[in-house]
Amino acid sequence: METKKEKMTLKRSVKLSFGALKFIWRKYPMMVITKLVQSVFHSLTPYVNIYLSALLIGELAGGRSIKRLLTIAGIIVASEVLISLVSKAIDMWKNYHTTDIWEQYQRMYAEKFLEMDYVDVDSAELQGLWSHIRQIRNWQGEPLMRVNDTVSDIISSFTGIFGAVALTVGLFISKTSKGSLIGTYLDSPIFIVALITVMLVSTVLPPILDTKAQTYRSRYAEEAKFGNRYFMFYFHGSKLERAVDIRMYEQENIISSVADKIPSFTTTSQMAKWSRGPKGLLHVAASAVSGIFTVLVYLFVCLKAYAGAFGIGQVTQYISAVSSLSGSVKRLVGAVGSMKVNAEFIEPCFKFLDLPNNMYQGSLTVEKRRDRKYEIEFRNVSFRYPGTETYALRHVNMKFTVGERLAVVGMNGSGKTTFIKLLCRLYDPTEGEILLNGINIRKYDYAEYMNIFSVVFQDFKLFAFSLGQNVATNVEYDSERVTACLKEAGFGERLETMPNGLDTALYKHFEEDGVDVSGGEAQKIALARALYKDSPFIILDEPTAALDPIAEYEIYSKFNDIVGDKTAIYISHRLSSCRFCNRIAVFDSGSVVQTGSHDELLADENGKYHELWHAQAQYYNN
Ligand code: ADP
Repeated sequence: METKKEKMTLKRSVKLSFGALKFIWRKYPMMVITKLVQSVFHSLTPYVNIYLSALLIGELAGGRSIKRLLTIAGIIVASEVLISLVSKAIDMWKNYHTTDIWEQYQRMYAEKFLEMDYVDVDSAELQGLWSHIRQIRNWQGEPLMRVNDTVSDIISSFTGIFGAVALTVGLFISKTSKGSLIGTYLDSPIFIVALITVMLVSTVLPPILDTKAQTYRSRYAEEAKFGNRYFMFYFHGSKLERAVDIRMYEQENIISSVADKIPSFTTTSQMAKWSRGPKGLLHVAASAVSGIFTVLVYLFVCLKAYAGAFGIGQVTQYISAVSSLSGSVKRLVGAVGSMKVNAEFIEPCFKFLDLPNNMYQGSLTVEKRRDRKYEIEFRNVSFRYPGTETYALRHVNMKFTVGERLAVVGMNGSGKTTFIKLLCRLYDPTEGEILLNGINIRKYDYAEYMNIFSVVFQDFKLFAFSLGQNVATNVEYDSERVTACLKEAGFGERLETMPNGLDTALYKHFEEDGVDVSGGEAQKIALARALYKDSPFIILDEPTAALDPIAEYEIYSKFNDIVGDKTAIYISHRLSSCRFCNRIAVFDSGSVVQTGSHDELLADENGKYHELWHAQAQYYNN
C-alpha cells in the first residue's frame, strides 16, 4: 500500500485539490456554495467602509458642508447596518448547512471501514494508513473539509484584490502639485514601478516564508507516525479497555518507558530542532519583511499628500486600501501554500476512501431452501494470512453433510478459527476452493452467502443497545421469539431480573441504568443472537468457554434441540464436550489429521485424538 512519495508541485496540488473539491461538491454542494459566498462577501465589504470614511474625512478637512456631512454619515451608518445584517445572515446560512458536516465525514470513513474487504480491515498496512489519517486530522483538521476553505480563500483573495485595486489606482496616478522637488521623484514612472515592485515583493514574501515553515509539518509526518500511533493506542481508547491489566501488572512503567524513548515525544525530536532552527527563523523573517511593507506605504502616501497630490480624506483611503490589498495578496499566497500542504494530506484520505474491494464479488443468488439442503465442501484448501510466510491451513478437504453436528478440535493455533473464517468468506483461500452446492462460494452474492451462517466467534462483541435489539440485531423485533432464544441459550432466569426486560440497555455507554453483563451472560446473549438469526448453519467457536459448569451442562444437554435441523459446527479444545457430535475433525498444525466419530477416533491409539483425549482425561482423573 505504501507508495513512493511524489514531489508536491503546484500543478499536482491544484489537481488534487480540485479533485477533492469535486468530491465534496458531489456530496455536500451547499457546504461549498455557502462557504464561497461567505468568503467573497467578507472580502469585499471592508472597501465600502474605507471608501465612505475617506469621503467623510475629506469633507471634514475641506468643504465642511453640514448637509453633505450628514448625508455621508447617514450612508455610512446604513451601509454598516446592512452589511452586518447580510453578513450574519450568510454566516447563519452557512452554519446551517455545515452543522453536521463533521459527523458526515466521520460516517464516511466509518462506512468505508464496513464496506472494505475484511482482509484489509485486518491488515497492518490499513491500520497504519488509518492512524496516519487520524494524525493529520489532529494536526490540521479534515483535509477534505479544509480544501473547501483554501479554495474559497483563493477565490475571495482575488475578489479582495480587485476591490482594493479599484480604490488604490488613484494613489499611483494622481500627480503632485507642480514645482516641489520631492514631487518630481514621487511622480516619476520609474520610481513608481520600483516602488510597486518592492511593495509586491514585501507582500508576497512573508506568506511564502510562512508556508515554507508549514511544510516542515508534512516533512515530519513520516517520523511522527509511529509516535502518534503509539500515543493513540495507549492514551486514547485502548488504555481504558486494558485498564485492569495495566493496573495488575503495573504496565504503566513499560508504556511510559517506551513513550519516553520515542523521539517524536521529546525535545530531541526533529520537529523541536526545526522549530529552534530553520522553521523558527522563517517565521521571524516573514514578520520582518511585513514591517518593511507597512513603513513604505505610510511614507509614500504621506509624502504624496504633503506634495499636494490629494487631500487628507484620500490619505486614510489609500493607506487602508493598500493595506487591504496587501492583506488580500498575502491571503492568496498563504492560501495557495496551505492548498499545497493540504494536498499532501488529501492523498492518504483518498487512498483510504478509494481502496478497492479486491475480493471477487459474485452475483449468484443463494437459493432459498426450506429443507436447508446446503452442502459445503472444502476442496484442497490452503491458506496463508496476508503478509505471513507460514500456512495457517494446509490442504484441507472436508464435506459437511446437511443437518450433521461436526466438532472441530485441536490445540491452540491449529487453524480451527481460520477454517471458520474461510468458510464465512472473511478471507479467500490462497489455494483450493470452497463450494456451496457445487459452486465456488466466490460466485455468490456476498450478503446472501453470509445469510446462511450464524456464528458466535470467540471474541464476539455485543452492542450498547437494548437486550432485545442485541439479540434481534434490529430496532424492531419479535419479542416472543427473542425471549424464546434467550431462554434456549440459558439466559431465561437472568432475563427475569433485568430491570426493563428486553428493553434493558446493555452497558452504560448511553444509559445510566444500563446493565453490565458478565462474560458468561454475554456469551449466552451472543448464542441467542445466533439462534434468532435462524440460519441453516450454526457455528459456535468455544461457545461455552465463559460459562460455568452448570450452564455448560445445560447447553450441551439440549444442544440437539437448540440446533434443530441446522447444520452445526462446533469448535472446542474440550474434547469431552464434543461427544454428542456425529463427526469430529481433528486439526493439527493447519491440517485435518483425523475425522470420525468419538469411538472411531479414540480407537486409533497412535492418533492425535487419542493423545489429546488422554491428556485431558488424565487431568480430570487426577
Ligand atoms: P485456533 O483457532 O485453532 O486456535 P487460529 O485459526 O486462530 O487457531 O490460528 C491458526 C494460525 O494462524 C496461528 O498460528 C495464528 O498465529 C495464525 N493467525 C491467526 N490469525 C491471524 C492473523 N490475523 N494474521 C496472521 N496470522 C494469524
